[in-house]
Order: sequence, then C-alpha cells, then structure tokens
Amino acid sequence: MLSLPFPPHRDAAGPFNRQPKGIRLNLPMATPFLPAFPAPATDPPVHPPLRDSHGRVIHDLRVSITDRCNYKCVYCRTGEMGAQYPELVIDEYFRLIKLFAGLGITKVRLTGGEPLLRRGLLELVGELSRLRTAEGKPLDLALTTNGHLLESLAQPLKDAGLNRITVSMDAVDAATFERITRVPGSFARVLAGIRAARAAGLAPLKINCVLLRGFNDDQIEGFARFAREENVVVRFIEFMPLEEGRLWTPEIVVTLREILDRVGRALPLTEVPPREASETARRYRFLDGVGEIGIIAPVSQAFCGACSRVRLTSDGKIRTCLFSQVEHDLYGRLRAGAGDDELRAYIIRTVYGKEARHHIGEPGFLKPSRSMVHIGG
Ligand code: SF4
Repeated sequence: MLSLPFPPHRDAAGPFNRQPKGIRLNLPMATPFLPAFPAPATDPPVHPPLRDSHGRVIHDLRVSITDRCNYKCVYCRTGEMGAQYPELVIDEYFRLIKLFAGLGITKVRLTGGEPLLRRGLLELVGELSRLRTAEGKPLDLALTTNGHLLESLAQPLKDAGLNRITVSMDAVDAATFERITRVPGSFARVLAGIRAARAAGLAPLKINCVLLRGFNDDQIEGFARFAREENVVVRFIEFMPLEEGRLWTPEIVVTLREILDRVGRALPLTEVPPREASETARRYRFLDGVGEIGIIAPVSQAFCGACSRVRLTSDGKIRTCLFSQVEHDLYGRLRAGAGDDELRAYIIRTVYGKEARHHIGEPGFLKPSRSMVHIGG
C-alpha cells in the first residue's frame, strides 16, 4: 500500500477499498496512426532526419539543464536527496543542442530538476532562438517548469525567444498542492506564474498533472474547471514507475478511461485529432467549446510506436528512452576532445539504437536507471 507523508483524501468508497479495473495494457506499438513496424534497417542513415532502427524519425530533444529542484514533491523526490548529478556550463548545452539541430532535431524542450533555477537560462534561450534546424527553420523552443519562479521570468523568457511553456501542477487547491510540494505558499506563486506566462503570450499554455489514486485523483473535476477558467490546456498524466521513492504499483494508476469518465460526467467532451502522430497527449475539447484537456496515457494507452523523443541529461548523457537501462556519455566524449564530426557520428549511432518501447507491467520489467527528477521528463 502506498505510504505517503499525509492521509489520502477521503471519499465515500475510499479508493483503497475499490478494486480498480484491471489495467489492460495496449501493446505500445499498436498506435492507430502508424503502420506495423518496418524491419530494422541495418546501417544508420547519415543524413537528417535522425532515425532509429525502427524507422521512427526523431525530431524532439529534451534537455535537462539542472538536477536541482526547489520543490520536494512527495511522489517524485523523497525530499532527503538533493541534486545527484552535475550540470554542464550553459555554453556546453548550446554546443550539444546545436549538433542535434543540425541532424534533424526541430523541437527542443528545456527541463530539469527545475530549469528556472539555472543562471544563464535566458542567454541559452536567446542563443537557441537564433539557431536554425537542418531545414533552415527556427527551432520550436519549449520549457517545463514547476512555475514557482515563473511570475518574474515569463516575459523575459518570451522576449528571449521561448515559444511555449508547460507548468507541472498536481492540485488546484492550495492545501493539497502544498502538501504535495512540501513548500508553503507555493500554490499562490504558481498561479501567479501561470497568469504571467499567459499574459506574456507563451501559448498554448499547458498544465501537466500527474494523477495518483487516493492521492490527488480528487482533483480531476477541479482541474477540468481550472482549464476553462484559466484558459490553459490541462493534461492529466498516468503515473509511471519513474519516481525516486519507488512507490509505483498498477493499482495507483488512474487510467485514461477513468479520467474521461470522471470529466465527461461533469463536462461533456469530444476527442480532437492529434496535430502529429508523435503527440503524447490525446486531446479532448469540451462540447460547449470552452477549453481543452489532454490525457497522456503511457501505461494504459502507450504511444511508443510513434515516439520521436530522445533526452540529454543534466550531466550530458543521451537517454534514448525514458525507461532506458543504459546511458550514452556524449559529454564525456566532448570533454575527451572529440570534434563535432565525431560527436555527430556518435549521436547518429546512439539514436539509431533507440529502444522499441517500454515494458511497464510486463514480466521482467526493470525500472529505469534514473528516476524522473534526474531525467527531466
Ligand atoms: S520514450 Fe520510451 S517509453 Fe516513452 S514513448 Fe518513447 S519509446 Fe515509449
């Protein structure tokens, strides 16, 4: 049973008493948008775009620029352990991202830990906004933050060239929010940050809420109203086994189906087609046209078949999948004096070997070598 530093919310039946419907895992490859997997090609393509051996085009890079965080969310960080991995200097992130952009990356998302803690962030965003993709277009620049420092940084980030921002937020009432983050006064700060980001024109403004049964699933209907009232896109995320404290069980996952039922009962929804096959969220608009939500369902409706993402950790390691058991030391090669050609070749080879999919809930599933706070989402 999940043991958390505060009592679960009370509801009549009590989520602990209700046997959740068994989670039926859809084979991650069965993405309806994609044909069955082509046979793996033998040699990596040498020219953009970046591809893996399953034929997927990899155009989305997520870069953690710090392992530090100013929150201690109970399901993410045990609170005892601070930062565990070093950071590169800002220019080194720029050099590595530039290599990826030249190989076909078109979207860069800056993450952490908490990226707004990083000095030099505005300069990095400015430099990245002047970079061009292999096709000569500007990069699509996004950032994920807990929002605590956003009120004062929203406009400067926009002015520096940031396009979009996502705020991680797991409750819409101050008491629950601050029990989760373990930071007093954090709710008001984040709300002010969200409103400042909207005023600065960082759009679409997305709110990511990780749902855990018996912990914050009482927030679902409140978040649906929040999406409409604050004109933000709330995305509910199924809890993945990526936490630091090793709390995950299948029973704790609130599935896409349940979320849809709960929101739809209060505010009817209609599904919206994805903008692109690799989009992680299933999108739903409220029938009255006011607002939108998304559901990211990596456990019950996995989407690995169309995955277009790779990650760079705060200490310069490539992770080809969130659930990778191995990491690839790109920064180590840079430090050892490798030139750009050698680093490019290493990136191409590494991405080519990207894992086909995750194996959550399957016999022999291994939790990844790093927890989410040290990967960066
Ligand atoms: S990162 Fe890994 S687990 Fe996530 S969608 Fe891609 S292949 Fe699947």
